Amino acid sequence: MPSLPDSPDLLVIGAGAAGIAAARTAMEAGRSVLVLEARDRIGGRAVTDTARLGLPYDLGATWLHQAATNPLVPLAAGIGVTLHDSDALRRERSQIGARPVTPVEDAAYSAAWAAAEARIAAAATDGGPDRSLAAGMAAEGPWAATIEGWQGDIISAAPAGRVSLQDFHSNALDGGNRLPEGGFGALVARLAEGLPIRLGAPVTRLAWGGREAVAEGPFGTIRARAVVVTIPTSLLEAAAIRFDPPLPAATLQAAHDLPLGQVVKLGFRVEGEERFGLPPFSSVDRQVAPGEPLVAMSLFPFGRPVISCHVGGDAAQALEAGGDSAVEAFMRAEIATRFGAEALRVLRAGPIVSEWGRDRWSRGVYSYARTGCAGARAILAEPLAGGRLCLAGEATDVGMAGTVGGAWRSGAGAMRSAMAALAG
Ligand SMILES: Cc1cc2nc3c(=O)[nH]c(=O)nc-3n(C[C@H](O)[C@H](O)[C@H](O)COP(=O)(O)OP(=O)(O)OC[C@H]3O[C@@H](n4cnc5c(N)ncnc54)[C@H](O)[C@@H]3O)c2cc1C
Repeated sequence: MPSLPDSPDLLVIGAGAAGIAAARTAMEAGRSVLVLEARDRIGGRAVTDTARLGLPYDLGATWLHQAATNPLVPLAAGIGVTLHDSDALRRERSQIGARPVTPVEDAAYSAAWAAAEARIAAAATDGGPDRSLAAGMAAEGPWAATIEGWQGDIISAAPAGRVSLQDFHSNALDGGNRLPEGGFGALVARLAEGLPIRLGAPVTRLAWGGREAVAEGPFGTIRARAVVVTIPTSLLEAAAIRFDPPLPAATLQAAHDLPLGQVVKLGFRVEGEERFGLPPFSSVDRQVAPGEPLVAMSLFPFGRPVISCHVGGDAAQALEAGGDSAVEAFMRAEIATRFGAEALRVLRAGPIVSEWGRDRWSRGVYSYARTGCAGARAILAEPLAGGRLCLAGEATDVGMAGTVGGAWRSGAGAMRSAMAALAG
């Protein structure tokens, strides 16, 4: 356990991916740094549970997206964590009701995807005003609601009709996906080993603007010369930390323009050897009708007896509000629709269910930009007080917003700005 400085040069608020990257950057530069984390664990929205299912299950971040440029890919290799090529391993199947699509239907689905993506790219770069993702993709035909569900509720965690098309396009992820065998949360936790992190230390007030920043909370008072704040936009907007002086109006507006979407995720453990005829790393989707929630379903990763289901957007919010039993009932009904009622017999009681919307330290999953607010991330990321207060976190990254890789990049960048302010 590293010793925790009382008066560090640099203070970091939050020990998620952005805070961990910020602290590592300071340590690598030989600066004294302290991280204050509200929860009793590190990792924030990247957390792997191994107890509930008896196997690693990521309640939050799961895949390293955009592997070609993701800063965590080389870091994982450096500590001997194996990353699997998810795209090469994934076996996709689409269904209409309980039956797999025919080759003709599958081709129509692929063509509808390609057309929607082409329209998104064209509409986002046509020089016109921002519009909603739904308007930009203008999906049509029998697969329209399914594609809208993927791009909106599942990927953006919000209905496509509320999401900024230009921001969506700026943060569209390509360059491959990687899956860490022991879980993404476990990888992030490994990368925090040895850092001076104080857990159970929620900051309630932050005085800034002068040559000193002062953080207060139940832990007492910590003074530093510059501070990197990595809390989610949901908490900035809710004034969970009282900034003194208040944050500039433009910063607060940007936090408002980048709300956190909602996703609810559930993992079932399967008893016995039943695999519904599916290979490991299966991903099964189902054509939905307009207004019907889409469930993303990953089955048997690494051959493990696990089915992971998730729903996003307004349906996720409503389900989470109904409690774990409502989420479980909904997912069981979806499994029965796809694989028959007899499939339910192999699901072990007591699935694991995420609660990101209810979690007071996140209040949602990851940020999307409201329609018309494509410039908000750059505003939120602007250093304040000459760099002595820098906001970081997934919402401040442009290119990989909403991801651990984006959060990491932003945390490292914010810390470089803060250190430059001290040098100046
Ligand atoms: C269901 C789900 C699925 C996801 N899937 C993926 C995926 O597959 N791939 C991917 O790359 N990303 C994914 N993400 C997104 C990814 O998890 C986040 O973008 C990333 O972890 C955010 O990191 P962060 O450091 O910006 O914020 P956080 O992880 O939220 O870290 C902020 C930290 O600040 C702490 N904090 C809050 N308030 C205070 C306070 N007052 N005082 C002190 N500390 C405070 C919090 O407890 C938290 O630890 C997913 C997220 C969810 C929830």
